[in-house]
Amino acid sequence: MHILLVEDDSPLAESIAAAMRARGWRADVSARGEPVPASLLKDDYDALVLDIGLPGIDGIETLRRVREQGSYLPVLMLTARDGVDDRVLGLEGGADDYLVKPFALSELLARLRALVRRHELRRSETLVLSALRYDAGARRATIDEQPIRLSARECIVLQYLMIKTGQIVARDQLTALVPGWDAATSDNALELLISRLRAKIEPGGVRLRTVRGLGYLLELAAPA
Ligand code: CA
Repeated sequence: MHILLVEDDSPLAESIAAAMRARGWRADVSARGEPVPASLLKDDYDALVLDIGLPGIDGIETLRRVREQGSYLPVLMLTARDGVDDRVLGLEGGADDYLVKPFALSELLARLRALVRRHELRRSETLVLSALRYDAGARRATIDEQPIRLSARECIVLQYLMIKTGQIVARDQLTALVPGWDAATSDNALELLISRLRAKIEPGGVRLRTVRGLGYLLELAAPA
């Protein structure tokens, strides 16, 4: 793992970098946010750890510039203030996770490893069930190589149902995945989404069942 750590508190930065190196990771440290977007173009990093409170441009603005340049690198924000506002800004600005100081170094390393693993899965995962194929990286579904048109929400729900093939997925698990939805308001919206999705994917030899009172289940269609 190769990590870029942006933290102006140098004793803290050194202790984090030492913990990473002790695990065999490579860690580069920057005390300022300005050079970060350029560094990401030059070096092949697996993740960015970004303090919010930095001299010059702060962590939130640094993150904005990173995303503006089209980088999807996993980003973990650090905040000294126990401020919800900071966290919201960080996550809305495209951070993948955050930690409030003080934190245990082992926690930071565990979160980073999880972030990088999730990122790799997102990039590489292709899910296949019968003739239905979903490419998670490209957000593209096909049946027998023919593309099928899915909305962004249908993509999110299909990906999850395919990961959980053969298992009942509760309604609130699905509504929690969809941005802007919650369990209280979206039962009908979810039902509508599922029925549209069902019509699009069932020609691929799969069956999307409603399990009354429990949720939904994606499985292979029974042979005719
Ligand atoms: Ca700081």
